[in-house]
Amino acid sequence: MQSETTILYGKPVVQHIRERLKTDIQSLATKGIIPGLAVILVGEDPASRVYVRNKEKAFKELSCYSKTFQFSTTATETELINLIQSLNQSTEFHGILVQLPLPSHLNEKLITNTVSPDKDVDGFHPMNLGLLLQGIPRFVPCTPNGIIEMLKFYNITTEGKHVVILGRSNIVGKPMFALLVQKFKMGNSTVTVCHTKTQSLEKITKQADILIVASGVPHLVNGNMVKAGVHIIDVGINQVKDDSVKGYKLTGDVDYDSVLGIAKSISPVPRGVGPLTITMLASNTIQAAKNN
Ligand code: NAP
Repeated sequence: MQSETTILYGKPVVQHIRERLKTDIQSLATKGIIPGLAVILVGEDPASRVYVRNKEKAFKELSCYSKTFQFSTTATETELINLIQSLNQSTEFHGILVQLPLPSHLNEKLITNTVSPDKDVDGFHPMNLGLLLQGIPRFVPCTPNGIIEMLKFYNITTEGKHVVILGRSNIVGKPMFALLVQKFKMGNSTVTVCHTKTQSLEKITKQADILIVASGVPHLVNGNMVKAGVHIIDVGINQVKDDSVKGYKLTGDVDYDSVLGIAKSISPVPRGVGPLTITMLASNTIQAAKNN
C-alpha cells in the first residue's frame, strides 16, 4: 500500500538556524565583533563562482562579513600559502575557506592544511577531523552538519537506527559517518558506508532506516532499492542536460518520483540539503568569532 512521503525542504531548517545565529551575531556586535570569512577563489570554474556568490549573499543577509580573494588560474602555491599565513594572523577574518577544486598544478592538501585549525570553518583540517573522530568536534564539515540539523528539525531520530551512507568522500561520507557513530543524541546509529567497490548495493540500501546518498551519480538509487518507511537524504547535485533555456536541470542522486509513496520522507534536489551547507558555514564562522 502506498503512503504519503514527507518532503524535507531545506528552507524552514535554514530559517530556524538563522534565528539561533542572529542571537550570537547580536551578542558579538555588542563587543564590536563582526564574524568575518575570507574566501580564496582560484580560476574561473563557473560552479565555484556560483557557490562563492551564494556564500557572499548569505553572509550579507546575516550581517556578517565576507571577502573573496580572487586569483588567476596560474596562481602559485607560494602566493596562496603567503596569503593564508597572513590571514591566519588577521583579526578581521575569523574563518578562512579555500574554494575547491583548485587547478591541478596546486597541491590541494598542502594549501588547505595551511589554514589555521582555529579558522578552518570548512572543518577539513586533519586536527579538526581528528577531534570529530574523538567525539569532541570543534568545526564540523558543513554538509554533514547541515544534514544532522535537517534530521533534528524534522524529528527524525538516529539512535539505534541503521543509517546507510552511499559515498565515502572526505567532505560528505566520511564526516557523516564520524558524526552518526558518536555517542551523541543525534548519533548512536549503526552506520554502513557504501562506495564503488560495495557488492550487492541494493541489498544494503534496502536495510536502511535512514539512507544518505552522496555519490554524484544522477538517479543511482531508485524505489526498488529502498524499504518502505525509509527516510532519504539526497545530497547529490547533478546537472543533467534538458531542453530548457538554461540547457540543463539540477537533479539528485535519487530517482525522486520512484521513491514517492515508499519512503517516509525525502529531501528534494534542489531546495533540500543545498541551502543548509552555506548556513552551517556561517554557523562555523560565528563559532570561530566566539572562540576568538
Ligand atoms: P565524490 O567525492 O565524487 O564521492 C562520491 C562517492 O560516491 C565516492 O565515495 C564513490 O565511491 C561513491 N560512488 C560513486 N558512484 C557510486 C556507485 N555507482 N555505487 C556506489 N558508490 C558510488 O563526491 P562528493 O564530493 O561526496 O559529492 C557527492 C554529491 O553530493 C555530488 O553530486 C555533489 O555535487 C553533492 N554535494 C552536495 C553538497 C550540498 O551542499 N548539497 C555538498 C557537497 C557535495 P569511491 O570512493 O569508491 O569512488
